[in-house]
Amino acid sequence: MSFADLGLIPELLQAVTDAGYTEPTPIQRQAIPIVIAGKDVMGGAQTGTGKTAGFTLPLLHRIARHANTSTSPARHQTRALILAPTRELAMQVFESVKTYSKHLPLRSVCVYGGVDIRPQQAELRRGIEIVIATPGRLLDHLEQKSINLSQVEVLVLDEADRMLDMGFIPDIKRILALLPKQRQSLLFSATFSDEIKRLADQMLKEPQLIEV
Ligand code: AMP
Repeated sequence: MSFADLGLIPELLQAVTDAGYTEPTPIQRQAIPIVIAGKDVMGGAQTGTGKTAGFTLPLLHRIARHANTSTSPARHQTRALILAPTRELAMQVFESVKTYSKHLPLRSVCVYGGVDIRPQQAELRRGIEIVIATPGRLLDHLEQKSINLSQVEVLVLDEADRMLDMGFIPDIKRILALLPKQRQSLLFSATFSDEIKRLADQMLKEPQLIEV
């Protein structure tokens, strides 16, 4: 099984080849076709399994494929939102997004707390398709109206169990309320406690379960 067999567009296959990957990992084999098909996902996977490419590649595929149709949203609106619990994890996802989107005309930005908000606002004003964020700083941007989530098509909640441990669930719920109801949502977590399952019930529609 190759990445080409999974149906990814040529720009992504090129990026994967550039990265030196020869074949998809088990989670990538499972997740990529499901996400391309537009389905919601509840994914149980640790880091180191190729999870990040498992959601980033099909997310980019969907956004790139819908970029040039007459009904598509205006260029450079925020179409994908990826939430991560810490600055470090958000930066790791951002690096992956940059690596895999290098042959696509899509912009991405990473916003996290603990640093001056103004350079992030300036970047967001340029128009950004993919936003990777920690929850608290995203809410700051929403309050200051430096970001508009009304055109978000895909939401990813990465490391949901750590979000829970860090007390971010109320923030996540506030963010969920500001997203379009019609969207694709992916939730990844290393463990599935009752609280994570309740969050999944609120966030996902008929999710496909992926476990590796
Ligand atoms: P992740 O679990 O997403 O943090 O990925 C762990 C590491 O595996 C990262 O350094 C990726 O660059 C690498 N990786 C992801 N997918 C593949 C693949 N299909 N083949 C080889 N390496 C990969």
